[in-house]
Amino acid sequence: MKRYDVIVVGGGPAGVSAAKASGKTGAKTLLLEKAPAIMANKPCGQAVSQETLQTAEVKPDPTIVLHRAYAIVYAPNLNYVKIDRIGFLVDKSRLLQYIAAQAAEYGVEIHVREEALDVKVEDGSVKVKTNRGEYEANVVVGADGYNSTVARSLGVTEKSEPIPTLQYVMVNCSIRYPDAVRFFLGNNVAPGGYAWIFPQNEKIAEVGIGVRGAPAKEYLDAFVKRFSDELGKAQIIDYRGAPVPIGGLIGELVRDRVVLIGDAAGTVIPLTGAGIHSSIAAGLAAGKIAAEAALDGDVSRERLSEFYTLYKPWIDRIKKSLKVMRALEKMNDNELNLLAEILSDQDILDLANGLDILRVARKLAAHPIFAVKLVKAIT
Ligand SMILES: Cc1cc2nc3c(=O)[nH]c(=O)nc-3n(C[C@H](O)[C@H](O)[C@H](O)COP(=O)(O)OP(=O)(O)OC[C@H]3O[C@@H](n4cnc5c(N)ncnc54)[C@H](O)[C@@H]3O)c2cc1C
Repeated sequence: MKRYDVIVVGGGPAGVSAAKASGKTGAKTLLLEKAPAIMANKPCGQAVSQETLQTAEVKPDPTIVLHRAYAIVYAPNLNYVKIDRIGFLVDKSRLLQYIAAQAAEYGVEIHVREEALDVKVEDGSVKVKTNRGEYEANVVVGADGYNSTVARSLGVTEKSEPIPTLQYVMVNCSIRYPDAVRFFLGNNVAPGGYAWIFPQNEKIAEVGIGVRGAPAKEYLDAFVKRFSDELGKAQIIDYRGAPVPIGGLIGELVRDRVVLIGDAAGTVIPLTGAGIHSSIAAGLAAGKIAAEAALDGDVSRERLSEFYTLYKPWIDRIKKSLKVMRALEKMNDNELNLLAEILSDQDILDLANGLDILRVARKLAAHPIFAVKLVKAIT
Protein backbone atom coordinates (compact mmCIF):
# COMPACT_ATOMS: atom_id res chain seq x y z
CA MET A 1 0.00 0.00 0.00
CA LYS A 2 1.51 3.35 -1.04
CA ARG A 3 2.00 5.78 1.82
CA TYR A 4 1.85 9.60 1.77
CA ASP A 5 2.36 12.25 4.39
CA VAL A 6 -0.84 14.01 3.30
CA ILE A 7 -3.74 12.94 1.08
CA VAL A 8 -6.12 15.68 -0.08
CA VAL A 9 -9.54 14.49 -1.25
CA GLY A 10 -11.23 16.81 -3.79
CA GLY A 11 -9.72 19.08 -6.44
CA GLY A 12 -11.92 22.18 -6.06
CA PRO A 13 -10.58 25.54 -4.80
CA ALA A 14 -10.02 24.18 -1.28
CA GLY A 15 -8.35 20.93 -2.39
CA VAL A 16 -5.93 22.25 -5.02
CA SER A 17 -4.84 24.95 -2.56
CA ALA A 18 -4.37 22.45 0.28
CA ALA A 19 -2.33 20.17 -1.98
CA LYS A 20 -0.17 23.08 -3.09
CA ALA A 21 0.52 24.24 0.48
CA SER A 22 1.24 20.71 1.63
CA GLY A 23 3.66 20.11 -1.26
CA LYS A 24 5.30 23.48 -0.65
CA THR A 25 5.89 22.56 3.00
CA GLY A 26 7.80 19.49 1.83
CA ALA A 27 5.27 16.74 2.50
CA LYS A 28 4.76 13.82 0.15
CA THR A 29 1.26 14.69 -1.05
CA LEU A 30 -1.45 13.01 -3.12
CA LEU A 31 -4.46 14.91 -4.53
CA LEU A 32 -7.49 12.80 -5.47
CA GLU A 33 -10.22 14.16 -7.77
CA LYS A 34 -13.14 11.94 -8.74
CA ALA A 35 -14.05 13.89 -11.89
CA PRO A 36 -12.21 13.33 -15.18
CA ALA A 37 -10.51 16.73 -14.87
CA ILE A 38 -9.38 19.39 -12.42
CA MET A 39 -11.97 21.96 -13.42
CA ALA A 40 -15.12 23.69 -12.19
CA ASN A 41 -17.10 20.51 -11.67
CA LYS A 42 -20.22 22.23 -10.39
CA PRO A 43 -22.10 25.41 -11.34
CA CYS A 44 -20.49 28.65 -10.23
CA GLY A 45 -20.96 32.37 -10.87
CA GLN A 46 -17.14 32.68 -11.10
CA ALA A 47 -17.10 36.12 -9.48
CA VAL A 48 -14.16 36.78 -7.17
CA SER A 49 -12.45 39.70 -5.50
CA GLN A 50 -9.02 40.87 -6.65
CA GLU A 51 -7.62 39.59 -3.36
CA THR A 52 -8.70 36.05 -4.27
CA LEU A 53 -6.07 35.84 -6.98
CA GLN A 54 -3.49 37.41 -4.67
CA THR A 55 -4.21 34.75 -2.04
CA ALA A 56 -3.92 32.06 -4.71
CA GLU A 57 -0.65 33.62 -5.98
CA VAL A 58 -2.08 33.64 -9.48
CA LYS A 59 -1.58 36.60 -11.83
CA PRO A 60 -4.79 38.15 -13.21
CA ASP A 61 -3.83 37.42 -16.81
CA PRO A 62 -6.38 37.11 -19.62
CA THR A 63 -6.25 33.30 -19.67
CA ILE A 64 -7.97 33.36 -16.26
CA VAL A 65 -9.73 36.72 -15.95
CA LEU A 66 -12.65 37.11 -18.37
CA HIS A 67 -13.05 40.75 -17.36
CA ARG A 68 -12.90 43.17 -14.46
CA ALA A 69 -16.25 43.79 -12.80
CA TYR A 70 -17.91 46.23 -10.45
CA ALA A 71 -21.07 45.26 -8.57
CA ILE A 72 -24.63 46.55 -8.38
CA VAL A 73 -26.94 45.50 -5.53
CA TYR A 74 -30.67 46.01 -6.21
CA ALA A 75 -33.29 46.52 -3.50
CA PRO A 76 -36.74 44.94 -4.09
CA ASN A 77 -37.98 48.23 -5.64
CA LEU A 78 -34.98 48.09 -8.04
CA ASN A 79 -33.28 51.10 -6.48
CA TYR A 80 -29.65 50.16 -6.33
CA VAL A 81 -26.27 50.72 -4.75
CA LYS A 82 -23.26 50.65 -7.05
CA ILE A 83 -20.12 49.15 -5.60
CA ASP A 84 -17.10 50.42 -7.44
CA ARG A 85 -14.61 48.07 -5.82
CA ILE A 86 -13.34 46.08 -8.78
CA GLY A 87 -13.42 42.31 -8.77
CA PHE A 88 -13.05 39.73 -11.50
CA LEU A 89 -15.20 37.38 -13.51
CA VAL A 90 -12.87 34.42 -13.90
CA ASP A 91 -12.67 31.17 -15.77
CA LYS A 92 -12.80 29.03 -12.63
CA SER A 93 -11.53 25.91 -14.42
CA ARG A 94 -8.40 27.76 -15.52
CA LEU A 95 -7.92 29.17 -12.03
CA LEU A 96 -8.07 25.67 -10.52
CA GLN A 97 -5.71 24.35 -13.18
CA TYR A 98 -3.18 27.11 -12.44
CA ILE A 99 -3.20 26.25 -8.74
CA ALA A 100 -2.95 22.54 -9.59
CA ALA A 101 0.06 23.39 -11.77
CA GLN A 102 1.68 25.16 -8.79
CA ALA A 103 0.97 22.07 -6.68
CA ALA A 104 2.58 19.83 -9.31
CA GLU A 105 5.68 22.04 -9.26
CA TYR A 106 5.96 21.35 -5.53
CA GLY A 107 5.91 17.61 -6.30
CA VAL A 108 2.26 16.85 -5.53
CA GLU A 109 0.95 13.69 -7.23
CA ILE A 110 -2.44 14.37 -8.85
CA HIS A 111 -4.88 11.58 -9.70
CA VAL A 112 -8.05 12.46 -11.62
CA ARG A 113 -10.89 9.98 -12.10
CA GLU A 114 -10.04 8.61 -8.67
CA GLU A 115 -12.83 8.79 -6.11
CA ALA A 116 -12.29 8.34 -2.39
CA LEU A 117 -14.90 5.81 -1.32
CA ASP A 118 -14.01 5.37 2.32
CA VAL A 119 -11.66 6.94 4.87
CA LYS A 120 -10.71 5.16 8.09
CA VAL A 121 -8.59 6.52 10.92
CA GLU A 122 -6.55 3.71 12.48
CA ASP A 123 -3.66 3.49 14.91
CA GLY A 124 -0.61 4.75 13.07
CA SER A 125 -2.29 5.91 9.86
CA VAL A 126 -5.41 6.93 8.01
CA LYS A 127 -6.48 4.65 5.16
CA VAL A 128 -8.16 5.95 2.01
CA LYS A 129 -9.97 3.43 -0.18
CA THR A 130 -10.67 4.56 -3.74
CA ASN A 131 -12.15 3.12 -6.93
CA ARG A 132 -8.57 2.32 -7.98
CA GLY A 133 -6.84 1.13 -4.84
CA GLU A 134 -5.99 1.88 -1.24
CA TYR A 135 -3.51 4.33 0.30
CA GLU A 136 -2.15 5.18 3.72
CA ALA A 137 -1.43 8.68 4.96
CA ASN A 138 -0.45 10.51 8.12
CA VAL A 139 -3.15 13.14 7.56
CA VAL A 140 -6.17 13.44 5.25
CA VAL A 141 -7.59 16.79 4.21
CA GLY A 142 -11.29 16.48 3.29
CA ALA A 143 -11.96 19.07 0.56
CA ASP A 144 -14.59 17.06 -1.26
CA GLY A 145 -17.45 19.54 -1.25
CA TYR A 146 -20.85 19.72 0.40
CA ASN A 147 -21.63 15.99 0.21
CA SER A 148 -18.23 15.08 1.61
CA THR A 149 -17.33 11.39 1.59
CA VAL A 150 -14.51 12.08 4.03
CA ALA A 151 -16.93 13.60 6.54
CA ARG A 152 -19.47 10.82 6.04
CA SER A 153 -16.83 8.07 6.42
CA LEU A 154 -15.78 9.57 9.75
CA GLY A 155 -19.34 9.73 11.03
CA VAL A 156 -19.55 13.55 10.88
CA THR A 157 -23.28 14.09 10.54
CA GLU A 158 -23.36 17.86 11.06
CA LYS A 159 -23.76 19.90 7.90
CA SER A 160 -23.86 23.64 7.36
CA GLU A 161 -27.38 24.79 6.42
CA PRO A 162 -27.64 24.72 2.63
CA ILE A 163 -29.39 27.08 0.27
CA PRO A 164 -30.47 25.35 -2.95
CA THR A 165 -29.25 27.24 -6.02
CA LEU A 166 -29.98 26.97 -9.70
CA GLN A 167 -27.98 28.61 -12.45
CA TYR A 168 -28.43 28.96 -16.21
CA VAL A 169 -25.61 29.94 -18.52
CA MET A 170 -27.46 31.95 -21.14
CA VAL A 171 -26.31 32.94 -24.63
CA ASN A 172 -27.66 35.49 -27.09
CA CYS A 173 -28.35 37.89 -24.22
CA SER A 174 -28.38 41.67 -24.54
CA ILE A 175 -26.74 42.47 -21.23
CA ARG A 176 -27.10 46.12 -20.32
CA TYR A 177 -24.12 46.30 -17.95
CA PRO A 178 -21.63 43.71 -19.24
CA ASP A 179 -18.97 44.91 -16.77
CA ALA A 180 -21.16 44.57 -13.68
CA VAL A 181 -22.10 41.62 -11.52
CA ARG A 182 -25.68 42.32 -10.40
CA PHE A 183 -27.42 41.03 -7.27
CA PHE A 184 -31.22 41.26 -6.87
CA LEU A 185 -32.84 41.06 -3.43
CA GLY A 186 -36.47 40.79 -2.41
CA ASN A 187 -39.01 38.30 -1.15
CA ASN A 188 -40.79 38.30 -4.51
CA VAL A 189 -37.56 37.86 -6.44
CA ALA A 190 -35.70 35.30 -4.31
CA PRO A 191 -37.13 34.48 -0.87
CA GLY A 192 -34.32 33.92 1.63
CA GLY A 193 -31.61 34.53 -0.97
CA TYR A 194 -30.94 36.53 -4.10
CA ALA A 195 -30.90 36.30 -7.88
CA TRP A 196 -27.89 37.24 -9.95
CA ILE A 197 -26.74 38.17 -13.43
CA PHE A 198 -22.97 37.70 -13.82
CA PRO A 199 -22.07 38.43 -17.45
CA GLN A 200 -19.09 36.87 -19.21
CA ASN A 201 -19.69 39.55 -21.89
CA GLU A 202 -22.78 41.28 -23.33
CA LYS A 203 -23.93 38.05 -25.03
CA ILE A 204 -23.17 35.36 -22.42
CA ALA A 205 -24.15 35.46 -18.75
CA GLU A 206 -24.52 33.28 -15.70
CA VAL A 207 -28.06 33.89 -14.45
CA GLY A 208 -28.90 32.20 -11.19
CA ILE A 209 -30.84 32.15 -7.98
CA GLY A 210 -30.63 30.92 -4.41
CA VAL A 211 -33.91 30.57 -2.52
CA ARG A 212 -35.01 29.06 0.75
CA GLY A 213 -38.39 27.38 1.22
CA ALA A 214 -39.42 28.09 -2.36
CA PRO A 215 -39.06 26.36 -5.77
CA ALA A 216 -35.82 27.68 -7.32
CA LYS A 217 -36.77 26.97 -10.95
CA GLU A 218 -40.09 28.77 -10.70
CA TYR A 219 -38.44 31.86 -9.24
CA LEU A 220 -35.52 31.78 -11.70
CA ASP A 221 -37.85 31.49 -14.69
CA ALA A 222 -39.93 34.40 -13.36
CA PHE A 223 -36.72 36.42 -12.91
CA VAL A 224 -35.61 35.68 -16.50
CA LYS A 225 -39.05 36.75 -17.76
CA ARG A 226 -38.89 39.96 -15.75
CA PHE A 227 -35.64 40.90 -17.47
CA SER A 228 -36.93 40.03 -20.94
CA ASP A 229 -35.31 43.15 -22.44
CA GLU A 230 -31.94 41.58 -21.65
CA LEU A 231 -32.77 37.85 -21.56
CA GLY A 232 -35.91 37.53 -23.74
CA LYS A 233 -34.05 36.20 -26.80
CA ALA A 234 -31.47 34.27 -24.81
CA GLN A 235 -31.15 30.49 -24.71
CA ILE A 236 -29.91 28.24 -21.96
CA ILE A 237 -26.76 26.24 -22.73
CA ASP A 238 -26.01 25.02 -19.20
CA TYR A 239 -28.62 24.30 -16.52
CA ARG A 240 -27.37 23.07 -13.16
CA GLY A 241 -28.03 23.40 -9.47
CA ALA A 242 -26.09 22.72 -6.28
CA PRO A 243 -26.45 23.44 -2.58
CA VAL A 244 -24.36 26.26 -1.10
CA PRO A 245 -23.59 25.89 2.63
CA ILE A 246 -24.54 29.28 4.05
CA GLY A 247 -25.11 28.24 7.66
CA GLY A 248 -21.53 28.88 8.78
CA LEU A 249 -18.86 26.47 9.93
CA ILE A 250 -19.68 23.03 11.27
CA GLY A 251 -18.57 22.45 14.86
CA GLU A 252 -15.62 20.13 14.34
CA LEU A 253 -13.26 20.89 11.48
CA VAL A 254 -10.37 18.99 12.99
CA ARG A 255 -10.01 15.46 14.35
CA ASP A 256 -7.05 13.18 14.89
CA ARG A 257 -5.38 12.86 11.46
CA VAL A 258 -8.17 14.74 9.59
CA VAL A 259 -8.99 18.34 8.65
CA LEU A 260 -12.22 19.28 6.82
CA ILE A 261 -12.25 22.45 4.71
CA GLY A 262 -14.22 24.29 2.02
CA ASP A 263 -17.86 23.47 1.38
CA ALA A 264 -17.35 20.21 3.30
CA ALA A 265 -16.81 22.33 6.42
CA GLY A 266 -19.07 25.31 5.66
CA THR A 267 -16.37 27.88 4.93
CA VAL A 268 -18.63 29.92 2.62
CA ILE A 269 -19.30 33.60 3.44
CA PRO A 270 -23.00 33.19 4.40
CA LEU A 271 -24.58 36.41 3.15
CA THR A 272 -23.00 36.36 -0.32
CA GLY A 273 -22.64 32.59 -0.75
CA ALA A 274 -19.13 33.25 -2.04
CA GLY A 275 -16.82 30.36 -1.31
CA ILE A 276 -13.91 30.50 -3.72
CA HIS A 277 -11.68 32.88 -1.77
CA SER A 278 -12.48 31.46 1.66
CA SER A 279 -11.91 27.91 0.34
CA ILE A 280 -8.54 28.80 -1.16
CA ALA A 281 -7.52 30.42 2.13
CA ALA A 282 -8.76 27.36 4.07
CA GLY A 283 -6.82 25.09 1.73
CA LEU A 284 -3.59 27.00 2.14
CA ALA A 285 -3.91 26.98 5.94
CA ALA A 286 -4.97 23.33 6.21
CA GLY A 287 -2.36 22.09 3.73
CA LYS A 288 0.44 23.83 5.63
CA ILE A 289 -0.66 22.63 9.06
CA ALA A 290 -1.35 19.07 7.83
CA ALA A 291 2.07 18.85 6.21
CA GLU A 292 3.95 20.26 9.22
CA ALA A 293 2.08 17.91 11.57
CA ALA A 294 2.70 14.89 9.32
CA LEU A 295 6.41 15.66 9.02
CA ASP A 296 6.75 16.22 12.79
CA GLY A 297 4.93 12.97 13.55
CA ASP A 298 2.29 14.62 15.75
CA VAL A 299 -1.02 14.36 13.93
CA SER A 300 -3.27 14.66 16.95
CA ARG A 301 -6.40 16.79 16.95
CA GLU A 302 -4.59 19.20 19.26
CA ARG A 303 -1.71 19.71 16.85
CA LEU A 304 -3.96 19.98 13.80
CA SER A 305 -6.06 22.55 15.70
CA GLU A 306 -3.36 25.08 14.77
CA PHE A 307 -5.53 25.33 11.65
CA TYR A 308 -8.07 27.33 13.70
CA THR A 309 -5.41 29.90 14.57
CA LEU A 310 -4.15 30.27 11.02
CA TYR A 311 -7.68 30.48 9.61
CA LYS A 312 -9.04 32.74 12.39
CA PRO A 313 -9.52 35.91 10.32
CA TRP A 314 -11.82 33.94 8.01
CA ILE A 315 -13.61 32.21 10.88
CA ASP A 316 -14.42 35.66 12.29
CA ARG A 317 -15.67 36.91 8.92
CA ILE A 318 -17.89 33.85 8.42
CA LYS A 319 -19.40 34.30 11.90
CA LYS A 320 -20.04 38.01 11.38
CA SER A 321 -21.56 37.54 7.92
CA LEU A 322 -23.81 34.81 9.36
CA LYS A 323 -25.07 37.19 12.06
CA VAL A 324 -25.91 39.80 9.45
CA MET A 325 -27.64 37.21 7.26
CA ARG A 326 -29.77 36.03 10.20
CA ALA A 327 -30.83 39.63 10.88
CA LEU A 328 -31.55 40.48 7.25
CA GLU A 329 -33.60 37.35 6.61
CA LYS A 330 -36.23 38.71 9.02
CA MET A 331 -36.67 41.93 7.03
CA ASN A 332 -39.55 42.60 4.70
CA ASP A 333 -39.19 44.22 1.31
CA ASN A 334 -40.05 47.73 2.58
CA GLU A 335 -37.30 47.49 5.16
CA LEU A 336 -34.82 46.26 2.54
CA ASN A 337 -35.78 49.21 0.30
CA LEU A 338 -35.18 51.59 3.17
CA LEU A 339 -31.87 49.97 4.00
CA ALA A 340 -30.67 50.44 0.42
CA GLU A 341 -31.32 54.18 0.83
CA ILE A 342 -29.26 54.39 4.02
CA LEU A 343 -26.30 52.13 3.29
CA SER A 344 -23.25 53.17 1.29
CA ASP A 345 -21.29 50.82 -0.95
CA GLN A 346 -18.66 50.37 1.78
CA ASP A 347 -21.39 49.57 4.34
CA ILE A 348 -22.74 46.83 2.08
CA LEU A 349 -19.29 45.38 1.48
CA ASP A 350 -18.57 45.31 5.22
CA LEU A 351 -21.91 43.73 6.12
CA ALA A 352 -21.92 41.14 3.35
CA ASN A 353 -18.34 40.05 3.85
CA GLY A 354 -18.34 40.04 7.64
CA LEU A 355 -15.80 42.87 7.86
CA ASP A 356 -16.35 46.04 9.93
CA ILE A 357 -19.98 45.29 10.87
CA LEU A 358 -19.75 47.28 14.13
CA ARG A 359 -19.04 50.47 12.19
CA VAL A 360 -22.21 49.91 10.14
CA ALA A 361 -24.16 49.00 13.28
CA ARG A 362 -23.14 52.33 14.88
CA LYS A 363 -24.35 54.14 11.77
CA LEU A 364 -27.73 52.36 11.91
CA ALA A 365 -28.15 52.65 15.69
CA ALA A 366 -29.98 55.96 15.45
CA HIS A 367 -32.58 54.60 13.08
CA PRO A 368 -35.89 53.64 14.75
CA ILE A 369 -36.44 50.42 12.76
CA PHE A 370 -32.91 49.18 12.31
CA ALA A 371 -31.71 49.97 15.84
CA VAL A 372 -33.95 47.20 17.13
CA LYS A 373 -34.12 44.77 14.24
CA LEU A 374 -30.62 44.90 12.84
CA VAL A 375 -28.20 46.53 15.24
CA LYS A 376 -29.23 44.42 18.22
CA ALA A 377 -28.87 41.24 16.20
CA ILE A 378 -25.40 41.99 14.87
CA THR A 379 -23.75 43.52 17.90
C1 LIG B 1 -24.58 28.14 -8.40
C2 LIG B 1 -23.39 28.54 -7.59
C3 LIG B 1 -22.77 29.76 -7.85
C4 LIG B 1 -21.63 30.13 -7.08
N1 LIG B 1 -21.02 31.31 -7.40
C5 LIG B 1 -19.92 31.68 -6.71
C6 LIG B 1 -19.21 32.87 -7.08
O1 LIG B 1 -19.56 33.55 -8.04
N2 LIG B 1 -18.14 33.22 -6.33
C7 LIG B 1 -17.70 32.47 -5.27
O2 LIG B 1 -16.72 32.85 -4.60
N3 LIG B 1 -18.34 31.33 -4.92
C8 LIG B 1 -19.42 30.91 -5.63
N4 LIG B 1 -20.05 29.73 -5.30
C9 LIG B 1 -19.51 28.92 -4.16
C10 LIG B 1 -18.26 28.17 -4.59
O3 LIG B 1 -18.43 27.58 -5.85
C11 LIG B 1 -17.90 27.08 -3.57
O4 LIG B 1 -18.03 27.59 -2.27
C12 LIG B 1 -16.48 26.55 -3.77
O5 LIG B 1 -16.32 25.98 -5.05
C13 LIG B 1 -16.16 25.49 -2.71
O6 LIG B 1 -14.92 24.91 -2.98
P1 LIG B 1 -14.56 23.45 -2.43
O7 LIG B 1 -13.21 23.14 -2.98
O8 LIG B 1 -14.77 23.39 -0.98
O9 LIG B 1 -15.65 22.46 -3.04
P2 LIG B 1 -16.07 22.13 -4.52
O10 LIG B 1 -15.88 23.29 -5.42
O11 LIG B 1 -17.42 21.52 -4.40
O12 LIG B 1 -15.02 21.01 -4.97
C14 LIG B 1 -15.04 19.71 -4.43
C15 LIG B 1 -14.29 18.79 -5.39
O13 LIG B 1 -14.18 17.50 -4.80
C16 LIG B 1 -14.46 16.51 -5.75
N5 LIG B 1 -14.95 15.33 -5.02
C17 LIG B 1 -16.12 15.19 -4.36
N6 LIG B 1 -16.18 14.00 -3.75
C18 LIG B 1 -15.01 13.37 -4.02
C19 LIG B 1 -14.48 12.10 -3.65
N7 LIG B 1 -15.17 11.25 -2.89
N8 LIG B 1 -13.25 11.76 -4.10
C20 LIG B 1 -12.53 12.62 -4.87
N9 LIG B 1 -13.00 13.84 -5.26
C21 LIG B 1 -14.21 14.21 -4.84
C22 LIG B 1 -15.52 17.16 -6.65
O14 LIG B 1 -15.57 16.53 -7.93
C23 LIG B 1 -15.01 18.59 -6.73
O15 LIG B 1 -14.09 18.78 -7.79
C24 LIG B 1 -21.15 29.30 -6.05
C25 LIG B 1 -21.78 28.07 -5.80
C26 LIG B 1 -22.87 27.69 -6.57
C27 LIG B 1 -23.51 26.35 -6.31
